[in-house]
Order: sequence, then structure tokens, then C-alpha cells
Amino acid sequence: MFEFLKGGVQPADTLVNYRLAMRTTQFLTVIFLLAPLAGTVYAVFHLWSGLTSLKDIYLFIGFYVATALGVTIGFHRMLTHKSFETNPILRGFFLILGAWAIQGAAISWAALHAKHHTYSDTDDDPHSPVKNFAHGHVTWMLGPLRAEPEKYVKSQLQDPVVMFVSRTAFFWAVLGMLLPFFIGGFSGFLWGGLVRVFVLHHVTWAVNSVCHTFGSRTYETAGSDHSTNNWLVGLLSMGEGWHNNHHAFPRSAYHGLKRRQVDVTGYIIRVLGMLGLAKNITTISPELRDSRAKKGPGGSPPSVTEPVGAG
Ligand SMILES: [Zn+2]
Ligand SMILES: [Zn+2]
Repeated sequence: MFEFLKGGVQPADTLVNYRLAMRTTQFLTVIFLLAPLAGTVYAVFHLWSGLTSLKDIYLFIGFYVATALGVTIGFHRMLTHKSFETNPILRGFFLILGAWAIQGAAISWAALHAKHHTYSDTDDDPHSPVKNFAHGHVTWMLGPLRAEPEKYVKSQLQDPVVMFVSRTAFFWAVLGMLLPFFIGGFSGFLWGGLVRVFVLHHVTWAVNSVCHTFGSRTYETAGSDHSTNNWLVGLLSMGEGWHNNHHAFPRSAYHGLKRRQVDVTGYIIRVLGMLGLAKNITTISPELRDSRAKKGPGGSPPSVTEPVGAG
């Protein structure tokens, strides 16, 4: 997942190089997983000791919301699924916020996610929790990750904004840690940096694990996909927990498809559209929704997979 130092998943020239690259990636992955965890354990002590200020909590919430929206609006709905289009400045803005999440370079993230949609809950899914929940949640990152951007998100490679932010992902990730430090000193870094990354890591991964295990299924989806809708993950992840809706209609800019399905990311895209800052927003007609709704034991899954939006 953390191939951002190179800005993408690179083919290895030799077996030796491949093993070295894989070990380096695994080492970095472990560091980037353990540092936020260690920071969060210390933050509990910090809070318990009365050292945490209201400013620290505001920094946590502010940076959490900004970074989460960078992933959901930028990496996911805009880049991977092309659910809407926006100008280069906003594209860069959302992708930079996404880079703060320390989930890899934007283009690598998009390729891996597009592969997940293509092979959902099969052996080729990078992070299916169906056989092993821990694998779907976190340990998949320690394995060999192969999702070639040239194969899964080919057209996005032509976007200079996407490629610039992807190649400089490490810089933006560091900046995302330094900003709360500049604003709030060490405790600002602790809460607005490490704790914020730790919580968002697990919320993002919960979409992969919890939302393929626990929750309800409103729509039939193709193949062996077992995506679910989960309201709690939906709230924490700015709308990404309506994951069965999303697998049924991957290109939809809105994942909450019913009135009570809170989808903060979708609301913001709607406002951007009203302001003229987002265009070609993909929506799903009520007729198409109804045609995909589960029909009980007699219902049959769709024979055609909805396009992921990549390629
Ligand atoms: Zn999924
Ligand atoms: Zn998706």
C-alpha cells in the first residue's frame, strides 16, 4: 500500500529487486501502521492525565474530516470511479487532502480499489474479508500487492494533476503531519496527526472488512460480491458505509440512496454541483435502483456488471 515513495506500483526488473522492493514496502507499511497506533496509545494516557486541550480535539476533528473527504471525494468517487468532474485546482486540492491519509499514492490507491471492484470477494480481491476478517481489514497490506494502474485506471494516468500529486505523495503526507504541529505544538501533532491517521486508517479499512461482512444487502450485485450497507461505518466514513449501494452502482456520486442514508461526501458533491464546481455528476434513476433491488429468494443477480468507472 505504501508505494508512494515511487508514486505507483512498479514492475520489478529482477527477482532480487522484487524481493528487496517488497521487503522495503513491508517494512515501511509496518512503520506507517505502528507509528499512529503508538501515538494513539500515548494519546489515551495524554487524555487521562488531563493534558489534552479542547484545541487538540478540534484539530483532531478538523484534520479528520478534511482527510476523510480527501479520500472519499478525491481518491474514491472522483479519481477511481469518475463520478463527477471538477477543475484542476479542486482536483489537486482533494487529492492532496487524500494524501494526508497515508494510504499510498492516489493512482496506486485507485488501481487497487478498481481491482477490488473487479474481483470483489474472490481470491483475486486484494482485501476480501470473507475467508479471513483480519486479512480483509489490515493484514492484506503485508502481502504482495499487484494492481497495475496501466490495467485498472489507464485513463487517469493521462491526468497531469493526478500524476503530480501521486509522485509527490510523501511530501503531502508529511505536510499533513506538520500542519497540526505548527498550529498546536506536540499535542496538536499527536491528535491532529497520529490519532487522526490511526482512526481514519481503521475507518477506511472497516469499509473493506465490516462492509463485506456485517450489515444489510439492499441490492443484488454481480459475482460473489458480499458488500453490505452499514450505518455506523456510513457515519464515520462520510458516507462510504453504504457499500452495497456502491457495489451495485459504482459510478454513482451518491452512496446514500435513501433519505436516511447519511452521505456527507454525497452532500458536498451536490453542493459543488450547485455552485458550478462539479459537472457530469453520475446519478442513478429510481427505475434502475428498483430493477436492482433484491427480490427475495427468487431474485437473480445482474448478469452485467456495472462499470467501475476506471479505465
Ligand atoms: Zn467493497
Ligand atoms: Zn469504489
